[in-house]
Amino acid sequence: MTDPMQDLQDPNLPVPDELKSNIVITSIDKIYNWGRRSAIWPMMFGLACCAIEMICTAASRYDLARFGMEVMRPSPRQSDLMIVSGTVTKKMIPVIVRLYNQMPEPKYVMAMGACASGGGPFKEGYNVVSGVDKFIPVDVYVPGCPPTPQALLNGLMKLQEKIDKQSILSVPWYQPGNGDPVPIPLLGPDLIDLRQLPAIRQHAHKEKA
Ligand code: SF4
Repeated sequence: MTDPMQDLQDPNLPVPDELKSNIVITSIDKIYNWGRRSAIWPMMFGLACCAIEMICTAASRYDLARFGMEVMRPSPRQSDLMIVSGTVTKKMIPVIVRLYNQMPEPKYVMAMGACASGGGPFKEGYNVVSGVDKFIPVDVYVPGCPPTPQALLNGLMKLQEKIDKQSILSVPWYQPGNGDPVPIPLLGPDLIDLRQLPAIRQHAHKEKA
């Protein structure tokens, strides 16, 4: 475990040795990101076998509490991170997108395992989505089938690195116009992505002609 005082210290603004345990000189970005990266609350839900590895990661042996991430929330409204752990079926993706829309900003998404990242062994299956990133933005991909708890922890640390590089001046959630919900796909005989409606209509007209 690193010293939190040293984590916050800006290396470009040195503090004399005798004051190091009492004074920290930092920046708004560093303290803003440090607070967020140290208390990421994942949403408590799982989709398939990868979820078992996620549950193992939360147990005492791997101890997510070291990263401030042990508080898995049963509500999207209290979650910062959606870990998509398992096979994403066409029946499930409207629910996943709805949950994503219900999460407040700042929010992050992790695709855990081959299924969530690209369809995995079920890719091209009649009922499976070839990657959750077809519908919602993914920040970190964790490879494996299933990924081990160590791999998931590595993915969480990559997410922390990503947060460290963000600046309060440019983060999307403070930009005007941001915050539009992702359209929830419709489940009919097949899945309809509402963002693709113009292309679907064009194709239908062509077929008719
Ligand atoms: S990636 Fe492998 S372990 Fe994970 S949900 Fe898919 S089939 Fe199961």
